[in-house]
Amino acid sequence: MTETTWQSLANCATTDPDIFLPVKGESAAPAKRICAACDVRQQCLAYALENREQGVWGGTTTSERAGLVNTELAEARKLRDNNWTTKDIAHRFDKSERTIRRWLERSEAA
Ligand code: SF4
Repeated sequence: MTETTWQSLANCATTDPDIFLPVKGESAAPAKRICAACDVRQQCLAYALENREQGVWGGTTTSERAGLVNTELAEARKLRDNNWTTKDIAHRFDKSERTIRRWLERSEAA
């Protein structure tokens, strides 16, 4: 499914976009309820993780995605340290090799 295709199937396409960018003190729950019934939630989440989007995407907030990334990053580093190839790590996380290389480069810079 291409990026354009999944976005055209998004439940949020016809809703108020402001609820997907809650400001401090506002709840993300209304946006998350819409995401919960969205057929392209996985594609949306993957896109947000890849592009470091802000707000609610794929049923997660920015900080929840940061937690996911940190957990996956730690696991990817562990696999690399155990001599897994980038290709095998990419397969493990269902990501592109390019994404894994960027993750690992980012973690080296941190
Ligand atoms: S998961 Fe949520 S933010 Fe993503 S496309 Fe669906 S409704 Fe929109």
